[in-house]
Amino acid sequence: MTVIDRISAPACACDGADLQTRLMPVNAALEAGMALAHPVAETETISLDTAVGRTLSAPVTAQADMPRFDNSGMDGYALRHADAQQAGAGTIPVSGTSAAGSPPRPLPSGTAMRIYTGAPLPQGADTVVMQEHVIRDRGQIRVERLPEPGANIRRQGEDQRKTDRVLEPGTRLTPRGIAACAAAGAGRVEVRRRLRIALLLTGDELCPPGARLREGTVWDVNASMLSACLQADGAELIALRHVADSRAALASALMNLAQQADLVVTSGGVSVGDRDHVKPALRDTGAEIRVSGVAIKPGKPVTISRLGDALILSLPGNPVSAFVTWRVLGRPLAVRMAGGVTAGPERRHVRTGQALHHRPGRCEFRPAILRGYDHAGREVATCAGGTRSAHAVPLATADGLLLIPGDSETVPEGDLLEFLPF
Ligand code: AMP
Ligand code: MG
Repeated sequence: MTVIDRISAPACACDGADLQTRLMPVNAALEAGMALAHPVAETETISLDTAVGRTLSAPVTAQADMPRFDNSGMDGYALRHADAQQAGAGTIPVSGTSAAGSPPRPLPSGTAMRIYTGAPLPQGADTVVMQEHVIRDRGQIRVERLPEPGANIRRQGEDQRKTDRVLEPGTRLTPRGIAACAAAGAGRVEVRRRLRIALLLTGDELCPPGARLREGTVWDVNASMLSACLQADGAELIALRHVADSRAALASALMNLAQQADLVVTSGGVSVGDRDHVKPALRDTGAEIRVSGVAIKPGKPVTISRLGDALILSLPGNPVSAFVTWRVLGRPLAVRMAGGVTAGPERRHVRTGQALHHRPGRCEFRPAILRGYDHAGREVATCAGGTRSAHAVPLATADGLLLIPGDSETVPEGDLLEFLPF
C-alpha cells in the first residue's frame, strides 16, 4: 500500500462524535484543496544569490559544457599511455606543469607533465597517473602502477552538454539546486513571484507573548508559530491581523485580506461553539467552502475555502492542531500555489518503539522522537503519550509526526508507520 493510500484511507470506523459531522478523509481534503490552489502566474528573473527557497518557472539550462574542458581528476602526471607502456620499469622525463586556471599546452612526445586536480589536460595526453603511484627522481618519474588508458580524466561535457536542462520548472531551489545552477553558469534564474500570505488570528483571550497575562488570557502561540512556518517555507507574510471573536469583524477582515493575499490563513474560531465565528463569517462573505471538517486528529475543524482569487485555510486555535493541519494540508497547498510540484507532505516509514493505542475514527498525527535504529537498520520512533493539542512544547523537541491510521485500535510495538519529518 503506498504512503498516500494510508493517509487517504477513509475514516470508516467513525465514533459517535465524529458521525455527527461528516468528516472528510485527509487525502480527499488535500485533493479538494489542491483543486482550489492555483499557482501564482507572475514570474521574475532574479540573481542566484537571492534565489534560495524560490520556485523555478523556467528550466535552467547549461550555459556551457560541464566540465568545460578535459581536465585532471587527480594530482599526478599526465602522459600518453603508450609512452608509459614503452618505458616499462624505466623513467620518463617530466616536461613541465599544468595547473588549474592555466590554458592547455601540448605534451612533448615521450614525456609526462606534472598536473594538478582540475588543471587542463595537456594536448596529446590520454591518461593521468596518480602521484601516489609514481616515484619521482628530480626531472624524471618511474610509473609504479599504470592505470587503464583514459584514467583520472574528467572529460569535457561528461556531466552536462551546453543547452542540456539541468533543473525543471517547479523545482524549489535548495542550496543543492543553487549549486546546480551555478555549475551550469546560470547567474540569474526565472522564478515565480513569492506567495503572498496573510495571517488572521481570532481569540479574545490572546495576549502577545511576553506581555503580562490578565485573568483568563493566554499567550498567542499561533501568530509567531505560523508566521515562522510561512517564512521558513519561502512565502511573503503581507499582513498579520488580530480580530475579536466577532462574526462581522471576521467577515470584514476576510474580505479585505482576500483582496491582497493569495492565501489567507486563519487561526482559531473555526469549531462549532457559539464563540466560533469563522465559518459563519466565511458564509457571510460568500466564500465557497470546499472542506469543512476532516478526519484528522488533532485539527478536525480545519476548513478550506475560496473567496475571490484567494484560498482561505482556516486552522483550529489549539497550537498543535494548527501546526499539524498546516504541515499536513496547508504546506502542500502553499507549495502548489508557489508553483512547486508536490504529492503531499514528505514522509517515510519508521518502526514504532512502543505499542500505541488509538480510538478508531480519525487518523492521528502524534509528535514523535527518533530513538535510533533497530537490528535491521530501520529507524525507530517513540511518542510521548497521546497528542495534547494545546501543548506546543513537546512539538519543539519532537523530530516529526507519527501517523496512526484511522482504523487502527492498537499498533503493536515494531509495526511500520508513516512518519512526517520536521
Ligand atoms: P478555538 O480554536 O478558537 O476554539 O481555540 C481552541 C483553543 O486554542 C482555546 O483554548 C484557545 O484559547 C486556544 N487558542 C486559540 N488561538 C490560540 C493562539 N493563537 N495561541 C494559543 N492558543 C490559542
Ligand atoms: Mg476561540
